[in-house]
Amino acid sequence: MLRRIDTTDRVVFITIDDGYSRDPRVPDLLAEHGATATLFPVSGVVRADPQFFARFLELGGTVNSHTVYHDHLPNLDAATQRREVCGAAQSIANSLGGVGPFFRPPYGEWNSDTVAAARSCRLRAVVLWSVSVNKGFIATHGGPIKAGDIILMHFREELYTDLQAVFAELDRLGLSVARLEDYLPAA
Ligand SMILES: [Zn+2]
Repeated sequence: MLRRIDTTDRVVFITIDDGYSRDPRVPDLLAEHGATATLFPVSGVVRADPQFFARFLELGGTVNSHTVYHDHLPNLDAATQRREVCGAAQSIANSLGGVGPFFRPPYGEWNSDTVAAARSCRLRAVVLWSVSVNKGFIATHGGPIKAGDIILMHFREELYTDLQAVFAELDRLGLSVARLEDYLPAA
């Protein structure tokens, strides 16, 4: 379970979930800042709008499983969880020609069956977060954003302005955005 990365490099990781609102200025803004993002859309929106998600791949980002139905996984039996976790990964691979190596459970809710499901389709890590951003408010576990933090954002109407707020804060703190897969602990 990955909540943050243990590193002294001045880097953080941007993750963006769900995908119901898709602002074309968002990948442009990432590109302006030389940043990439780790995306966790539900698989249906990737199938509906693969061109939008392909732009994040061009920036060096990844598009990863976040289930098919965005359900509360601990309420589901092991076989159903496996269909949710691995079925979404397969669907994204079909839509984009490949899928990222991560899984994020909806609502951050998981149990041992969730971890086993992700392992069964060779996903390398179950990724949670240490910082969340919503409507311009950056929520940490106390203090400013720190090196190694995994930042949770969502594809919502306010994502563009939220991202602007994050970049302003990262500039102020002397932090830059790195690729999560470059900082994964060895399995
Ligand atoms: Zn979600």
